[in-house]
Amino acid sequence: MSHQKLAADYLWHDRGWRSGEGGIAVAAGRFADASPAPEERIGRFVLPGMPNLHSHAFQRAMAGMAERRGPGEDSFWTWRETMYAFAEAIDPDDMKAIATQLYIEMVKAGYTQVCEFHYLHHGPRGVPYADPAAMSLALIEAAREAGIGLTLLPVLYMTGGFDGRALNERQQRFRNDVGQYVALLERLAPLQNDMLRLGVALHSLRAVPEEAMRALLATGVCRDLPIHIHIAEQIGEVQDCLAARGARPVEWLLDHADVDARWTLVHATHLTPHETDRLAKTGAVAGLCPTTEANLGDGLFPLAAYIDAGGKLGIGSDSHISVSPVEELRWLEYGQRLLTRHRNVAARRPEESVGTVLWQRALDGGAQSAGVNVARLAPGSRADMLVLDDRSPLLAARGEADVIDSFLFAGNTPLVRDVMVGGTWRVRDFAHAAETRAAEAYRGVVERLVAA
Ligand code: ZN
Repeated sequence: MSHQKLAADYLWHDRGWRSGEGGIAVAAGRFADASPAPEERIGRFVLPGMPNLHSHAFQRAMAGMAERRGPGEDSFWTWRETMYAFAEAIDPDDMKAIATQLYIEMVKAGYTQVCEFHYLHHGPRGVPYADPAAMSLALIEAAREAGIGLTLLPVLYMTGGFDGRALNERQQRFRNDVGQYVALLERLAPLQNDMLRLGVALHSLRAVPEEAMRALLATGVCRDLPIHIHIAEQIGEVQDCLAARGARPVEWLLDHADVDARWTLVHATHLTPHETDRLAKTGAVAGLCPTTEANLGDGLFPLAAYIDAGGKLGIGSDSHISVSPVEELRWLEYGQRLLTRHRNVAARRPEESVGTVLWQRALDGGAQSAGVNVARLAPGSRADMLVLDDRSPLLAARGEADVIDSFLFAGNTPLVRDVMVGGTWRVRDFAHAAETRAAEAYRGVVERLVAA
């Protein structure tokens, strides 16, 4: 068993810093009570790694390529057509190259666990690969190469709208029936370990008929797995749900499923005050992806009311228009400031620091959403940590009271210097051992995809 004993001036501990005196022990990939190893000083400020609760890895390759105005009014739905066209040619080797590059970027930015909401299951025209899990396995391989923890969420995607219409030609690659989907989960379940967790995902209410949702959630393989769903990202989606089911998406889900702490409602953007309150009381996590939601023109989540109601939240980089927990949390707060014309919105009590509230809530909600014991520098938790660059001018003269706010709100130079995941240093002095090779493979794939 490999032992390490690490020392820092300050360790992040539940809503703030505590003295790092005494150090922190690591054994067999987890934090431990004690270690016989000699102490190694790693830096001044050490934080738990951040879970990223929502990712569609393949979309990384088209980030920045849909920012030119189309013939009509651009919206989420026109962006989706561009994304589908791009996805068309991706095969499992491409997926692995794109995801490896992305996951390395994530680790360097401070994410140490990613929930991959994976729906690109099959080959062109929906023909399954010889191994129907080929795409899932490519993602698992990519996470292993990057050294990031993976919560793999194969997605059940069946219909193209609330009326139950069939998927269009481009969407055929996403399709499974409940039987095929359960077979995929059963194939993947034995692969789970400390760095790989399986979960269940329903694409959205419009893509999964009610009977299918019930049938799936009643199967044994789903028991104890995290459950994720896209819920209310778009006003159009809310209106369609109202017309078809007589209720708004969050309202309908809370009325028809046992939503509890296992659930993550991704893009719970459009909520009434009543839905906000009800969702907060379930113990589920609201999955917020501020840079993607801004990029797609989705709308803004009622953050202050949700925090006041005791709601749980986490962050995701989703379309990967940005891959940085700093930027997600910064824009989560800035969106609210622009909307309310007030400052320090996430801090609900006098003297509270916005950075502290957001970092801690995203850690707690992200770990719950991913279904893994991470996000704590405490015995038993997987040994994930970030060492901040205390030589950066951005942190000059910053102490316990303001380092987290400066980390999240000041400048745009990366401040995550070293990253450990599962007891292994993956990033040292801003460099990841696999980054050069991964970037080369990624470039080759994207050049081919863009030329196609
Ligand atoms: Zn999504």
